[in-house]
Amino acid sequence: MKTLKSFFLILILSFSFHLTVVAQTDAERIEAEVLRSDVEFNIYFLASDEFLGRDTGTHELDIAARYIATWFQTYGVEKADGYDSYFQDVPLQTLRSPEEITFSVGDSTYQKNEHLALLTGYRGDMDASYIFLDYATEDELADNDVEGKIVVASAGLPGQTSPQQLFMAVQQKNEWAEAAGAKALIELYTNPQFPWQVLVGFLGGDRMDLDDNNGENDEPMPHFWMNGTTEERVNYLGELSDSNVTLTVSGAEPDRFTSRNVVGVIRGTDPDLRDEYILLGAHYDHEGVAEDHPDPITSEYIYNGARDNAVGTAGVLAAAKYFAEHPPRRSLIFSAWTAEEKGLLGSRYYAENPMIPLEQTIYNLNIDGAGYNDTTKVTVIGLGRTEADDEMIAAAEAFGLEAIPDPVPEQNLFDRSDNVNFAQRGIPAPTYSLGITDFDDEINYYYHQPTDEPDTIDYTYITSYIRSIVLATLKIADRDEAPFWIPGDVYEEAGLELYGRE
Ligand SMILES: [Zn+2]
Repeated sequence: MKTLKSFFLILILSFSFHLTVVAQTDAERIEAEVLRSDVEFNIYFLASDEFLGRDTGTHELDIAARYIATWFQTYGVEKADGYDSYFQDVPLQTLRSPEEITFSVGDSTYQKNEHLALLTGYRGDMDASYIFLDYATEDELADNDVEGKIVVASAGLPGQTSPQQLFMAVQQKNEWAEAAGAKALIELYTNPQFPWQVLVGFLGGDRMDLDDNNGENDEPMPHFWMNGTTEERVNYLGELSDSNVTLTVSGAEPDRFTSRNVVGVIRGTDPDLRDEYILLGAHYDHEGVAEDHPDPITSEYIYNGARDNAVGTAGVLAAAKYFAEHPPRRSLIFSAWTAEEKGLLGSRYYAENPMIPLEQTIYNLNIDGAGYNDTTKVTVIGLGRTEADDEMIAAAEAFGLEAIPDPVPEQNLFDRSDNVNFAQRGIPAPTYSLGITDFDDEINYYYHQPTDEPDTIDYTYITSYIRSIVLATLKIADRDEAPFWIPGDVYEEAGLELYGRE
């Protein structure tokens, strides 16, 4: 029976229902739709023993990649424009330590380990003249005739001589020298903080790297670090500059193979902003199994990598699911990186071969971390360095968490995860980590240990953490202006160049 009263009742009910919908905040909607059950499922699954620690180059990691891609497809995440798959093939190689290295200059012969460590996969021998330069910077290489020569120079770049900076300059210097036509590059290593013998031990075993020469016939350019700690040796090399030398490297060739990044896209809703992208990424690989494990493999020897980084992968999947239903103003790129544990290789390959132009990628949120020792916090490595602090702090607060900056700046965590490959190119790129207030025993008990198991995690906390990342992503994607680096940041200059800003 229809009465006027029931009509009004319906009207009031539907009106108030409408009101509730309007009044639902983004945080409430994220709380309702980013489910703890999804988060828990993904972490338990990806960190299970059957994945054998998700080591790069294994079939198990390929299955993990397929799992992520299949969820992207199920959620309705798009493939990047011009690509028919969510996979980006990453060419990799396992470099074997050479059997022998011989570098003869005048009366002196320098050898593997005692004097030399090889950084690339080169095998062969060469007779060439060599040239002694200061740092072999791009300008210096252009000012000197290095074509067909072996270049000897100090390691690192002028004013950048910390061990980390020396490592980070390797690739750039290699590219410059190769582009200038050099036949080899030998960098004189003198850093006392990271002594030569430790370095040699570090480079001595098998090591993974991008296979930049994949598919091409040319050999990688030989690139060495040479123990340059004695002044006598440096002077000797300087004096004999321009003479002819011989260089020989023997040993097993590298193993070449392919691994995969998983990349998907959601287009934004604002016609003026949708050509700008926020990159939300996390590595999905981990450390594999302990080398000295007995047979058969038991869980005690498997690096499950629940915190590092099934949590981050679950975060990317949760965000992909949410934003497929509720796209923000800007577009989003979701990525799961391979080979992070082998030296940030998957993200580096993407940064060198982006599927969406980097200058359209206005921000990168990376999810990665060592673990947690404070469930009231979200640790944002890079808080205070970009203009998106307010968004990240408010997003954490909405889920009862406090966003704090890097508590252990001396560990230089900012430059130790995938975000650095984007930061170096100018993209503002903090890393979201679980609440960590110190690198204490609680962290070390799980960090890169077989104890990092899915059943040792507080899922109420992890779910809040992931919800805060989804909300921060939304807030940043909806901003009127793209957030940039705080003035004076070490990566500001690169950002000005990338985006053509004044
Ligand atoms: Zn990690």
